[in-house]
Amino acid sequence: MTHTLELNDIRKSFGQVDVIHGIDLAIEDGEFVVFVGPSGCGKSTLLRLIAGLDDPSSGDILLRGRRVNGVPASERGLSMVFQSYALYPHMSVRQNLSFGLENIRMPREEIRSRVEDAAKLLQIEHLLDRRPGQLSGGQRQRVAIGRAIVREPVIFLFDEPLSNLDAELRLQMRVEISNLHAQLGNTMIYVTHDQIEAMTMADRIVVLRGGRIEQVGRPLDLYNHPANKFVAGFIGAPQ
Ligand code: ADP
Ligand code: MG
Repeated sequence: MTHTLELNDIRKSFGQVDVIHGIDLAIEDGEFVVFVGPSGCGKSTLLRLIAGLDDPSSGDILLRGRRVNGVPASERGLSMVFQSYALYPHMSVRQNLSFGLENIRMPREEIRSRVEDAAKLLQIEHLLDRRPGQLSGGQRQRVAIGRAIVREPVIFLFDEPLSNLDAELRLQMRVEISNLHAQLGNTMIYVTHDQIEAMTMADRIVVLRGGRIEQVGRPLDLYNHPANKFVAGFIGAPQ
């Protein structure tokens, strides 16, 4: 069976320092998978390897059965959303959404229609002519997500997208991203150190510690049957 994403014994070292210690994982079409673990456990590193922003020291990454080690990020068909929105301040929202598609020379009409569909989905149609500086934090994060949507990626990769937002907005955006997943049906990988985000958003949670997987499972299964004290403590399950 072909998985949407397969990681086979992925390892990553920076110089002498081993950061990822042999990760095996398969993700299926349409799954919402959350990577959760404490700061420094390798979540961002793993996401960057999947995105193609960096290459593993060893091990294979397969997208829909095709080995993509060494394949540039732009050719993997993935979209990444970061916690810092990385919007271009001098461009309008519409230009921010269009820019990546113009770069790959997509026809104008197709770009316009994708941008307008994404803006509608995210309820930012009325903001298309503004610049990022004229938007609230939540609106900027919606534009960043819009920029991922217009590329129609095979997989969305989110790296702690809500950690710069205040608690109330975080809650609201959590629901919006879950709704987006329900509407689009794409595979999503969502990195967070926030247990509540993991428990409420995930189809499956991958608990990481020190560059290794501690446990993989559905939220309730982890809660009811944590593999060890670390998982129990991290998920907030009774010990
Ligand atoms: P997380 O996202 O879970 O907080 P990271 O993946 O950012 O963790 O980092 C995991 C470990 O790898 C940390 O100890 C970090 O210092 C180290 N690391 C990450 N990127 C680099 C790099 N480019 N060079 C050296 N060390 C790095
Ligand atoms: Mg990180």
